[in-house]
Amino acid sequence: MSKTALITGTTGQDGSYLSELLLDKGYKVYGLIRRSSVDTTERIAHFQHHPRFELVEGDITDASCMHKLISGIKPDEVYNLAAMSHVGVSFDQPITTCHIDALGPLHILEAIRQSSPQSKFYQASTSELFGDTKIAPQSELTPMTPNSPYAIAKLYAHHLVGLYRRAYGIFACAGILFNHESPRRGGDFVTRKITKYVAMIENWMDTHDGLGFPRKYLDIPPLFLGNIEAKRDWSHAEDMVRGMWLMMQHSIPDDYVLGSGETHTVKEFLQLAFGSVGIDYKDYVVIDPKFYRPVDVNLLHADPSKAVNILGWKPIVGFGELVNRMVEHDYEILVDKKTRYV
Ligand code: NAP
Ligand code: GDP
Repeated sequence: MSKTALITGTTGQDGSYLSELLLDKGYKVYGLIRRSSVDTTERIAHFQHHPRFELVEGDITDASCMHKLISGIKPDEVYNLAAMSHVGVSFDQPITTCHIDALGPLHILEAIRQSSPQSKFYQASTSELFGDTKIAPQSELTPMTPNSPYAIAKLYAHHLVGLYRRAYGIFACAGILFNHESPRRGGDFVTRKITKYVAMIENWMDTHDGLGFPRKYLDIPPLFLGNIEAKRDWSHAEDMVRGMWLMMQHSIPDDYVLGSGETHTVKEFLQLAFGSVGIDYKDYVVIDPKFYRPVDVNLLHADPSKAVNILGWKPIVGFGELVNRMVEHDYEILVDKKTRYV
């Protein structure tokens, strides 16, 4: 009989890729979707009617709802990818962030403990847990000094995973995932904000024969950004969801760092993205204090050797290819009006 999985955050970047991966592997997938006044199914539209995919309505901040769902489905695997996932926004909405990112996982773990203790649980932890650390690269053993309401809420959930494993014997894993991007990345994260802008400029140049002209001579608004000195360890989201699944197939539940093992500044991302269409980011980017955070995380650099050695995981898409794929995809959306996410 095929395995069953419940994925929260199925309409998000990772949830959509993970749903596809599990459908390919023969799973019956239940994707949690929260009620919205607008359609949020854009990333999943191309497989939403798959015979083994079923949308179930709910919200992870509602304990009774999660209990009802998990006791009803009794899934083999639960992947909690739902979150208020934007670090910058968490400074403005710390309480919402806490309800979703800290208490949400607690409701799910309690539902598993009380009504479906055989269900395996995956929690989307984050490299933001390392926060202000001066230690690099960062592994599962690096001390965690979170530096945002988002990271603090995620640290609470991260510790719950270890606790439910030790105290109740639940098969629970936390993936400490470094930044991962794709053409499905939300438009308010720095990578996608950049690639959408570069695609817009490329399209403008195609139609106006304006190649080589600095922006100041053109009727185009600049790209406003904040801290471009920050260093991140960027991977492709498809590589990451494969790692999530591998953690859940291992005989022993544990926590794993997933990341590329390379670190790059936002400035390097800019250089590659703008350079891929033959222009200089300095002609287009304006630094705007509005996009600075009260405190930032300056250096993220993964040591994924535990996942490589124990799970046999390794990322396939490198930094340069990731940037190129995102720019190309955003350009194709503009010129071809292609389906956004396939
Ligand atoms: P994302 O694209 O922002 O997706 C977040 C998902 O969570 C969306 O489907 C959203 O639904 C859902 N959601 C939010 N609040 C919810 C609630 N109260 N109940 C049910 N669903 C809710 O995030 P992502 O990039 O795929 O990331 C997936 C997970 O990995 C998140 O937990 C994130 O914090 C974590 N993470 C991400 C990265 C990264 O670089 N991408 C790195 C480390 C960890 P709507 O469509 O309704 O908004
Ligand atoms: P994060 O690493 O999960 O916070 O991912 P983001 O893509 O939101 O931010 C990555 C880095 O880019 C952080 O250090 C941000 O401060 C920096 N950054 C600079 N300008 C921007 C911007 O306009 N938007 C966002 N989201 N981040 C920016």
